[in-house]
Amino acid sequence: SKTWITLRLASPPVLLSVSSAEQQGSAVTSVRPETSTAKTLTDIGTRRIFNEDHDIFRQSVRRFFQEEVVPHHKEWEKAGEVSRELWEKAGEQGLLGVMIPEEHGGIGGDTFSAAITWEEQMYCNCTGPGFALHSDIVMPYIVNYGSKEQIERFIPSMTAGKHIGAIAMTEPGAGSDLQGVRTYAKKDGSDWILNGNKVFITNGWMADVVVVVTVTDREAKTAAHGISLFLVENGMKGFQKGRKLEKIGLKAQDTAELFFEDVRLPASALLGELNKGFYYLMNELPQERLLIADMGISSCEFMFEETRNYVLQRKAFGKTVAHLQTVQHKLAELKTEICVGRVFMDNCLQLLSERRLDPTTASMAKFWASELQNKVATECLQLHGGWGYMWEYPIAKAFVDSRVQPIYGGTNEIMKELIARGIVSQK
Ligand SMILES: Cc1cc2nc3c(=O)[nH]c(=O)nc-3n(C[C@H](O)[C@H](O)[C@H](O)COP(=O)(O)OP(=O)(O)OC[C@H]3O[C@@H](n4cnc5c(N)ncnc54)[C@H](O)[C@@H]3O)c2cc1C
Repeated sequence: SKTWITLRLASPPVLLSVSSAEQQGSAVTSVRPETSTAKTLTDIGTRRIFNEDHDIFRQSVRRFFQEEVVPHHKEWEKAGEVSRELWEKAGEQGLLGVMIPEEHGGIGGDTFSAAITWEEQMYCNCTGPGFALHSDIVMPYIVNYGSKEQIERFIPSMTAGKHIGAIAMTEPGAGSDLQGVRTYAKKDGSDWILNGNKVFITNGWMADVVVVVTVTDREAKTAAHGISLFLVENGMKGFQKGRKLEKIGLKAQDTAELFFEDVRLPASALLGELNKGFYYLMNELPQERLLIADMGISSCEFMFEETRNYVLQRKAFGKTVAHLQTVQHKLAELKTEICVGRVFMDNCLQLLSERRLDPTTASMAKFWASELQNKVATECLQLHGGWGYMWEYPIAKAFVDSRVQPIYGGTNEIMKELIARGIVSQK
């Protein structure tokens, strides 16, 4: 017994099944190979969390990235942003808002289908499009806490790629410590007047709608009790976008500063309840952390295969580099660690799909995967020799793009704080 969900994909349309086992929260059993036994780490048709319908979906997502993203990525790296057309194409193909319920204007797919979009983006080594943040971080805030009007206004057009979403928590003086946020909204009749600025905002330059973390009660018993979320739209008077920030990696990603100067917000711009913002952030962060983690392991899988291919053809001392035992042992170590990480990640995806992923486990996933990603990036670049340091080689791009993973979505030091808190408070 399966319910079928039609995904708006290129013809022929693909039907994605949500199995009754998943709906009931029990494990999906199958004889599919796991990553460790597959021919390559990026093979389609592997891992027990997926089924054949997911494989068809993955094929179409892979095709989309290869045809619509890879050929343009270099020019987007120079521009510091991807094209709007790409967003709309992704919308037409049903690749945005995959996990958002159909009744709210999303695609109505399952967690695993959303994960396929994250993974395939890493497999093509193109970090430009901020699809995951838009679909699986920003859209859930609107669906989970928004009013009927807000959902109707934003979700269908975000699914179509016509509205691009961002979330603005970080400020020049407040990153890890979100309770130090200074951006402030003052009540004025039924409106709010917003002042402040945000920094490092992914999709910030292209964003049409931004979830802005704002202080609304300076007298609250703790800072966390006085924070609210607002939906701020591009074009509102007093809302300015700063420059696109020049980063060492994620070159095609439009990371920006945002400025709010006496922006008048109607009461209807408040997202959810007044002063509940910090609580909403804590609720949503596990999913954000897991997608960073899954993208991290996927990047490891990509880098491993890239390196395997390289050492198999590169010659030194009359033989291929792959012939050297030290190289073989290095690849054996990396493959083992990646496959171990993949098992934990798939377990976390299963937990997320059953709404059982707790913040501590998500923090472990984010911490572990992003550290591993950087280790794999360093080792794989080394195996490329000098060519690994050249921008034209994919491993060079993967190396610099990896570096931010232990920083954003909460730094790994903060992840360890969260994990440690549970350890010492359990006794
Ligand atoms: C490319 C990129 C994209 C981003 N996208 C977004 C986005 O879309 N939206 C958004 O809101 N933010 C975004 N960020 C911001 C990101 O989440 C923050 O940079 C991050 O949370 C760290 O904050 P910070 O930079 O202020 O560092 P700080 O908080 O100043 O930390 C500095 C150092 O001190 C350490 N530290 C701080 N507190 C502790 C502690 N209690 N214990 C131990 N160590 C500690 C940190 O781990 C870090 O090593 C992005 C950042 C980057 C680089």
